[in-house]
Amino acid sequence: MRKRAVVTGGAGFLGSHMCERLLFDGYDVLCLDNYATGIPENVRQLSEIGPFRFENFDVTEPLDIPGPVEFVLHMASPASPPDYLQLPVETLKVGSVGTLNALDLAKEKGARFLFTSTSEVYGDPLEHPQKESYWGNVNPVGPRAVYDEAKRFGEALTTAYRSSKGVDTAIVRIFNTYGPRMRGNDGRVIPAFISQALNAEAITVSGDGSQTRSFCYVSDLVDGIARMLHSSHAGPVNIGNPDEISIREVAELVVELCGSGSDVVYVPRPVEDPERRRPDIARARELLDWAPTVSFEDGLKKTISWFAESM
Ligand code: NAD
Ligand code: UDP
Repeated sequence: MRKRAVVTGGAGFLGSHMCERLLFDGYDVLCLDNYATGIPENVRQLSEIGPFRFENFDVTEPLDIPGPVEFVLHMASPASPPDYLQLPVETLKVGSVGTLNALDLAKEKGARFLFTSTSEVYGDPLEHPQKESYWGNVNPVGPRAVYDEAKRFGEALTTAYRSSKGVDTAIVRIFNTYGPRMRGNDGRVIPAFISQALNAEAITVSGDGSQTRSFCYVSDLVDGIARMLHSSHAGPVNIGNPDEISIREVAELVVELCGSGSDVVYVPRPVEDPERRRPDIARARELLDWAPTVSFEDGLKKTISWFAESM
């Protein structure tokens, strides 16, 4: 008999790719999403792949789902800084109450639960690269706290359900991931730069652009999550690409690959924008035999083609 996965946040960028992967792997998929930051286009084609059902639902409301469930993937949460700054309380609620509801569903069904945490739990890291053993450097009353602290709380809650209620749980800490289906205007750096380059607008580099990030292509990320889901590990496990690059270099590369004449302009840096980010992925290599395979240049080319076609 086919098994079923429930994916919260499945109409978002990563959630929709995860739903697609689960359908390809032979699962029935129930996607719960309230379109806070997701869009119908992301899930429109999914029922052509396999048994896919969408419910427009806010997962901070209690979940009542009949029938068996094998996996619960709790991916719902605004993830782009401009999104979560516009939805501060909603972000805290989906990371706390939403996680509680999703965990209760997993407990009721005896399902394996996977929580998509983030490199933001490391805050503006004082340790580099970031290992899972690092506790982070987060300001609980800073602007990014609505996201960072919600995810830290979500990790703590997930851990408590494992230890005190016997739920089979998994935590992955996702580092900056990009690819097709990101919203051009979601404010994150890759879609922002590509949209600007393709529209011949100025590329808005914040600060002097010397801050770094490490970007993972979406297919690699999905593969890492799938491996974690099918393992019995609790995590947390970092999933990301350790190839670190400055934001100024990202701007230059995007302009070059788009064949664009856009200029680079320097805009004010967001408050408490982390200085650097690079995952230590030794744990993912060892436990999941996982490592990214798509280079930044190849991933950017695929993403640029998708943006160019969908514009
Ligand atoms: P996204 O904004 O594209 O998707 C999030 C989805 O969650 C959206 O479809 C949104 O409508 C939905 N959602 C939000 N609140 C909800 C609620 N209360 N009820 C139901 N649905 C709700 O973001 P994404 O980049 O796809 O991120 C997906 C998950 O991965 C998030 O949990 C995010 O924190 C995590 N993550 C992403 C990245 C990344 O680089 N993309 C990095 C770290 C962690
Ligand atoms: N950034 C930028 N221009 C933009 C959007 C973002 O220079 O138009 C910078 C941002 O200040 C940060 C980096 O790019 O230093 C990554 O930002 P993003 O919001 O994509 O991810 P996060 O900060 O959450 O890692």
